[in-house]
This record gives sequence, structure tokens and C-alpha cells, in this order.
Amino acid sequence: MGFFNKNEKYCDCCHKKLGIHFFKAKDGRICKECFYESRKKGIQSTRKHTVNELLQNMNDNKYFCETCKKELKSDINRVNGKYLCNDCFKSFKQTQKEKNIALKEEQKEKKIREYTLSKEKAKNFISTSNVGEYIYFNDDIEEIYIPNFWVGPSFIKYSEILDFELLEDGTTVSSGGIGRAVAGGVLFGGTGAVVGAVTGKHKGTNISNSMEIRITTKDINRPVVFVKIFKGEHKKGSFIYNAYRTDAYKILSMLQIIVDRINKTQQVNEQNSNNNFSVVEELKGLKELLDSGVLTQEEFEKQKSKILNR
Ligand SMILES: [Zn+2]
Ligand SMILES: [Zn+2]
Repeated sequence: MGFFNKNEKYCDCCHKKLGIHFFKAKDGRICKECFYESRKKGIQSTRKHTVNELLQNMNDNKYFCETCKKELKSDINRVNGKYLCNDCFKSFKQTQKEKNIALKEEQKEKKIREYTLSKEKAKNFISTSNVGEYIYFNDDIEEIYIPNFWVGPSFIKYSEILDFELLEDGTTVSSGGIGRAVAGGVLFGGTGAVVGAVTGKHKGTNISNSMEIRITTKDINRPVVFVKIFKGEHKKGSFIYNAYRTDAYKILSMLQIIVDRINKTQQVNEQNSNNNFSVVEELKGLKELLDSGVLTQEEFEKQKSKILNR
């Protein structure tokens, strides 16, 4: 045995090299595999058994139920690496089932609670502006309310808006969002024919089946909100179609105005914090000039008030 082998340890059961994780037997050390194999075969604590006992037990080819400790014969069920008898497995499954049912019930109740709350909120929502009955804006609390008869109302904070798109028959015809202008369409134009020429490849040429606005938000619990404009066949360029389109573009413009405004506020805030930082720096420099005798106290005070009153 070489000098370095002195520190190497081996499992007393299987004689494999021991890693960092080893376990104790009454009279030796055993590896992870032997430990779990012993557990599988009904040994609760390997410390209470000698290596010989453990070996014998392992070679016995017996399996024991993890829960009731009954010896397993043909009724072996494996769950997450553990062995269970048929009865324990059954009750385990039953408990899982009950847990799932309870969880589902809980989720359902939560949904109903949320739905009721949002209905209440919708009822009390005061809008400062709106586009038809599609969307309501409150500039004071900076929040959007979008009614939806089927899924319940949605609320989006102005600062949560990331992107928005106008979809016609499921295809994006116009989009906007943070750091860009509404693109892809002409505002308020009676230009249905132009849009139709791009998107109306299949299904005739001049029939539109749906129009909706998809708003992407920063809220991971509700990343996408749809504003349904219409569903059902409408002839492109028809009076009704154009009215829908005008509403849709109105909504896009308003969303873009909001996003631009939020953007601007954020930029101003950043600017202000930069300015505050430079004021501190300037005052520090001024104090240094005073301390080193370059400025008199009087000159210092004068400069100081100049910086602060800027
Ligand atoms: Zn071993
Ligand atoms: Zn059992």
C-alpha cells in the first residue's frame, strides 16, 4: 500500500471507493448505494447493524414497504425511489388525489374571488377617457380597464405596458410600444383596401373575420391582454368595418401616447437623479477648495448657494 493510499477509504460492504458521502454501520463505513439498498430492504438505521448483518440482509433479496415495513413479495410499488406495498401505495395515491382535489378547489375559489373583486373594481372604475366600450383610461391613477364579458375585466397599469399590436385575422397589421411609434398602418385613414391587400391572401380577398388588439405587459401573471374589436365577417372598406378600424387605431394611438409619456417621465427622473449626483460632486469640490484655502469662507458660501439655488 502506497503512502497516499492511507487516506483512501472503501465501503466495508461492497469495497468500492468511498466518496464524500458515506454512511456508518455499527462497525464500519458504507457507501451511498449500500446505504440505500439497506433502506430498501427494511433497515431503518444502518448504524445499529454490523457490516455482516447489512450484507446478509442485502443478499437476502428481500424488500420491505417504506411505510408499514411489511416484507414485500409480489406487491412491490416504486414511488420516488421508495418501495411501497399495495395497501400503502393505494392510500398514498388516495392522499395524492385528495390533495389534488383540494388544490383544484382552492384554485377555483381563488379565481372566483379574483373575478368578483375585479367585477367590483370595474363597476367603480372612473375613466378620464375611453374608446367606445372597448377600453377605459384613468389618467389620475394611470390605469387601463378592459371589459371582457367572457373572461372578466382586465386592469393594466400604464407603466406595465410593453407592446401592443393590432391583429386582423390573427395577423399583425400594426404595432407599437416602448421606444417606438405606431408602425405599419395609417392613423384614421380609410385605407382598408391597403391593409387588405397585405393580409387578405386567403379566404377571398376583402373579408375580415376578426380584429383585436394584443397588449403585452410586464406582469408575468397576466402577460397578454386582448381588446376584442370584432369577430364575424365584415367586408373590408365597408362602413362598419371602417368604423371598427378607426376605433382600433384610436386605441393604438392612445396606448402609444401613454407609453411615450411614461418613457419621458422615466427619462426625466433619470436626468434628475444624475443632476442630484452632480450637485453633490460640485459641493464636495467646493468644500475641498475651501479646506485647501483657495476659497475664503465668504466665497465658499456664495458659490454654495449658487449651486443649491440652480
Ligand atoms: Zn458499498
Ligand atoms: Zn405498506
